Amino acid sequence: MIVAIDGPAGAGKSTISRMVADRLGWTYLDTGAMYRAVTLLAQEQGISSAAGEDLDQLARNLEISFQPGPAGAPRVFAGCREVTEAIRTQEVTGAVSEVSAHAGVREAMVERQRLCGNDGNVVVDGRDIGTVVFPRAEVKIFLTASVGERARRRRLELEGKGIEIGQEQMEREIAARDDLDSNREVAPLKAADDAIVLDTTEMSIEQVVDRVAEIIDAKI
Ligand code: C5P
Repeated sequence: MIVAIDGPAGAGKSTISRMVADRLGWTYLDTGAMYRAVTLLAQEQGISSAAGEDLDQLARNLEISFQPGPAGAPRVFAGCREVTEAIRTQEVTGAVSEVSAHAGVREAMVERQRLCGNDGNVVVDGRDIGTVVFPRAEVKIFLTASVGERARRRRLELEGKGIEIGQEQMEREIAARDDLDSNREVAPLKAADDAIVLDTTEMSIEQVVDRVAEIIDAKI
């Protein structure tokens, strides 16, 4: 069974997807990490976020893999090198939406994501999973929350890593990323027509995990 979890930045997709997958003993695929890895390598190789062909080639050739991590969060590898932390910097976050808007980059990533879907039960999070990558996923959930709440959650996450960012700046960054992701031509961020929309603004993590698990149970 494929469970597609889409939604805007900071809606809690990765936390929820990971916890649901853990609970069910299923695989979790973080597609955002894949676009982040392409962005990181592009930055390191001096490839501009606007350089379509160079980015397409990089994306096609880049080997991205995941291994189970200590606290349940998967470790991410580009080739043999671990990039789990390096793909979460503000620098990568600031450029990833521009990189992921390129059709060739998306094509290369989507092809790999679909291969993972052949392997049984998987929870996949991203922006276009229910609409483009797995339009026939058995369960589609669109997780969202107010911009203020999503910014608050992101700020707390970054604070845990020693990075302090004001609420207003965080709201601006999140809104800018949503805007780019929602308005690109290829595979924009949007809820699939048959997705269940969950607004988590007033919900705890446990409540959201329970609700998603309930929706999956009902399908099983
Ligand atoms: O989920 P995360 O915030 O790590 O995603 C980083 C970026 O990767 C998103 O802002 C979006 O530009 C891109 N992305 C995408 N399609 C996906 C997953 C992520 O375009 N399926």
